[in-house]
Amino acid sequence: MNSLISTSIPLVFHPIYSQLSLPGRHRFPIQKYQGIRDRLGQLKVPDKAFNLPEALEIEDLLKVFSPDYVRQLTQGQLDPKAMRRIGFPWSAQLIKRSLTAIGGTVLTAKLAFEAGKAINLTGGYHHAFANFGSGFCLFNDLYLAALHMLQFPGIDKVLIFDCDVHQGDGTAKLAANNSQVFTVSVHGEKNFPHRKQISDMDFALAKGTQDGEYLDTVDCALHLAANTFVPDAVIYDGGVDIHVDDDLGHLNISTAGVYQRDAMVFAFCQAKGLPVAAVIGGGYQRDIGALVDVHLQLFNAAGVIPK
Ligand SMILES: [Zn+2]
Repeated sequence: MNSLISTSIPLVFHPIYSQLSLPGRHRFPIQKYQGIRDRLGQLKVPDKAFNLPEALEIEDLLKVFSPDYVRQLTQGQLDPKAMRRIGFPWSAQLIKRSLTAIGGTVLTAKLAFEAGKAINLTGGYHHAFANFGSGFCLFNDLYLAALHMLQFPGIDKVLIFDCDVHQGDGTAKLAANNSQVFTVSVHGEKNFPHRKQISDMDFALAKGTQDGEYLDTVDCALHLAANTFVPDAVIYDGGVDIHVDDDLGHLNISTAGVYQRDAMVFAFCQAKGLPVAAVIGGGYQRDIGALVDVHLQLFNAAGVIPK
């Protein structure tokens, strides 16, 4: 009989992450979250490693997002154009799912503070601004998690390190006037959003960028950010839409390259003694099994499962 892997790395998951019906051929791979959970189970990660998040309260949203936007979106009264910009049809389940996913990233920040690192099996809603959502993002979990992290003793500065292929435009804008939250985005120059915001540091990579240049850039970004800002904690978006097989991303990063990137970020945080809360971020492939393989690199790199 195989023994269970003993992992001390807290994971955060709720079945609702994948419980949303979307129109046929909708490009969002909503099943991937449950797919990752199931695969980790098959790899003998014990059930007790998974922490169940609660939906974030509306009052917590109001600290960051505009009251009109929060009310209209949660009550299904957002105008159709603003809803189309988000990219999901409105449903009560969409709201419940999103608030639980965001609650998951906030819980991940707390668990990372306690355990050194933690991973949410969703998250990375970085295109959400204070008064509108966009690109499959309703409310910005990364910024909320950074604010949550700042409540803990000894945490005065938080770095949001975003390696999703799409620029973290909403995060950049939300954090622009907050000197305690520092934003770094390493993304595809030609990828959405076409009108970029200004992060504290932006690294825009050309179409077709491959592993060597990509990993050099991430390494440079990490060192520059750490030296300039000297953070006390990190929120990491490990989006895998940088992968060569991704339907949306314009970069050509291999599965090994994804692993090396994630391993580099975790090793860096560990060497500096920085708690790191990671989210899986974007990743778009019709073949859910293949997509799960790429997302699993984050868990390999964190030491949740052996490589
Ligand atoms: Zn993305």
